Amino acid sequence: MKKNMRNKLLLFILLLLFIAISVSGRTGELTIHFLDVGQADSILLELPNNEIMLIDAGNNSDGRKVVNYLREKGIDTIDYLIGTHPHADHIGGLDDVIDNFEIGRIYLPQVIHTSKTFEDVLLAVQRKGKKITPARAGVNIVDEPDLQIYFISPVRDDYNNLNHYSAVVKVDFLDKSFLFTGDAEKPNEEEMIEKYGARLKSHVLKVGHHGSNTSTTEEFIKIIEPDYAVISAGKDNRYGHPSPLIIERLQKYGIKIYRTDLQGTIIVHSDGQQILFNHDPVNQIITVNHGIVIESVDLVKEMVIIVNMSKEIKNLSGWKLVSVVGNQEFVFPQGTSIKPGERLMIVSGPAASITDDNILVWTKSYIWNNDGDPAELYDANHNLISTY
Ligand SMILES: [Zn+2]
Repeated sequence: MKKNMRNKLLLFILLLLFIAISVSGRTGELTIHFLDVGQADSILLELPNNEIMLIDAGNNSDGRKVVNYLREKGIDTIDYLIGTHPHADHIGGLDDVIDNFEIGRIYLPQVIHTSKTFEDVLLAVQRKGKKITPARAGVNIVDEPDLQIYFISPVRDDYNNLNHYSAVVKVDFLDKSFLFTGDAEKPNEEEMIEKYGARLKSHVLKVGHHGSNTSTTEEFIKIIEPDYAVISAGKDNRYGHPSPLIIERLQKYGIKIYRTDLQGTIIVHSDGQQILFNHDPVNQIITVNHGIVIESVDLVKEMVIIVNMSKEIKNLSGWKLVSVVGNQEFVFPQGTSIKPGERLMIVSGPAASITDDNILVWTKSYIWNNDGDPAELYDANHNLISTY
């Protein structure tokens, strides 16, 4: 009898232990995957409470890739599925994702779009018998003691630009915060600053709109104070994303930059205290001290624009602009200078001529290879200053 009691007690204790483990069932870690889906967004979050969140699913043609990536991670349920806004480079693959997984809640901003891609998403939601929860500032997604996830944009419902409807998600996990901005632009950033102020502070920032200069204003950076910035963009995309101005701006604040176009899928781990990346940052690509940036290279029109982002006049005497493919170099003449905020144009090809004070003629020959040709700018001491 006594022995029997002891056995029962032992069994009971074991049962309690088992229940405790399975109820908590937590890895206690947050893993974020910024998937390389080219000129598009798709971000997978393995939350510390073991739930799964997916923010966007790339273009239509990326659907399969996103589905396979999640499958390889052993995922069968997506607890929170977010389409930031109805543009195809964000919601394109959502229908594939909805068709292939168990889905919890689906969030989309309250705006309709007449595209086939958008219709496909709505049809997939219908097929699954799900409803859409509106994504807007103030809506909570997860609210636990150690983990809060919520929308901080869109603030309004009357924008005339689809990007401005972007659902912006903030994740607060113990000591660390993560901000996912979709394609939110300057007006949204201003609204978020006004509404949330210092609460926007985040350690990791998914840079808005693929690094376009429509987003990531200086005011926004100053209030977020990120340590790390991740840019999701396509290699050699036709939009010139990310903008060199934005790269320069991030560098100016000492922010470590990661880019899917240069590094593929970026994976971030955090235990709520530390943040670890699967790659080194790409910052060394541009040195910053000079504040001079190659803003654009038009390979067809044979026109390079450089801009002075600093607050001083810069003397460019002896600086060099290099066409990497042909290894040709242009040496800036003695006395060349550039005022703060000003642009200098370096032109080449048969039509090249000086029509303005800010134009320099390299040569009447063609320089730039139209199939792609990186540009590099060096200072007089041969330090690489900017690339494009
Ligand atoms: Zn986009």
